[in-house]
Amino acid sequence: MSYFRKNIDKMSGYTPGFQPKSADVVKLNTNENPYPPSPKVAEAIRNLPEENLRRYPEVFGDSFRKAASDALGIRSENIICTNGGDDLLTICTRAFCDENRPMAYPDPTYSLYPILAQIQNCPVVEVARHDDWLDKLAKVNAPFTIVCNPNAPTTDFVAVDELGALSEKLDGILLIDEAYVDYSEDHAIRLIEKYDNVIILRSMSKGYSLAGLRFGFGIACPELINGLVKLKDSYNVDAVSIAAAAAAISDQEYLKMQVGKIKTERSRLTESLRKLGFEVPDSQTNFLLTKSPQKDAKEIYTQLAERNIFVRYFALPGLEDKMRITVGTPEQDDKLLSALEEILA
Ligand SMILES: *Cc1c(COP(=O)(O)O)cnc(C)c1O
Repeated sequence: MSYFRKNIDKMSGYTPGFQPKSADVVKLNTNENPYPPSPKVAEAIRNLPEENLRRYPEVFGDSFRKAASDALGIRSENIICTNGGDDLLTICTRAFCDENRPMAYPDPTYSLYPILAQIQNCPVVEVARHDDWLDKLAKVNAPFTIVCNPNAPTTDFVAVDELGALSEKLDGILLIDEAYVDYSEDHAIRLIEKYDNVIILRSMSKGYSLAGLRFGFGIACPELINGLVKLKDSYNVDAVSIAAAAAAISDQEYLKMQVGKIKTERSRLTESLRKLGFEVPDSQTNFLLTKSPQKDAKEIYTQLAERNIFVRYFALPGLEDKMRITVGTPEQDDKLLSALEEILA
């Protein structure tokens, strides 16, 4: 006899990327930004009045909403602050899904979506991410559809207009997961003025180098935001993270500089891996999905790990012959490339 609900007993939970204890490793497995956050972040944390710790934080994270609305050219009422982007996914799954209201998404994509569906005990409709997958999602017409754009782990980008067209065909919600948008050619913010069923997910973990802080946000029309806040924890973002995330998003110049460096390095790493014989599609994210023609991906992954170089391997259909490699600093990537040369020799 178990104390848990049946669906909880049946599930095994999310498997996060390995977090090595030692700092003396090349860590290219969880898509963190290899560069530090804006210096304004540490300054904001240092200058935080002690009083802000004694008192409960802003219920809606208004200082962050103000800073984000200035930086992104939207209104504060379009923003909900969340404890990482993942918190927004939890809030939305609880808001839109139940036993009779499925979640739909293209496969492969972020492996957290099905886990949240299992917790909520809602059915999942997965549509293979091949030809016509947008049409297929429109036909499924689920109460809650998620499209990750640019997509993890495939690194490609769907034109924003195609997502607009999809949202028009859906009777339910379309959530566009833009966790990696800082590295891509376009973004979907213009859709929220036009469509009352679009929610955009943003994260401070990737472009802004703040994965440890746990801060993300949702962008949507005020009616949706007002509904979503009913489901959040009363104080889902804390005083320190509100101040730090507000400082980070205000420093768009620093963001552009770091993202520029990573995009340059992304091109170099892509070319170098192709020269070694890997198939690497052009990426719109800060990571690459690589396929080795000579040797099996799991074997390469294991041999890299033996050399303290960590990349991500997914034992999942369609991914078992591939590795996901985060773009690191030129020095980190050089270590990876020489190790790969040895392994493939
Ligand atoms: C990283 C990520 C998120 C959000 O991550 P947080 O650290 O919770 O902000 C959401 N979706 C995808 C696809 C991601 O890779």
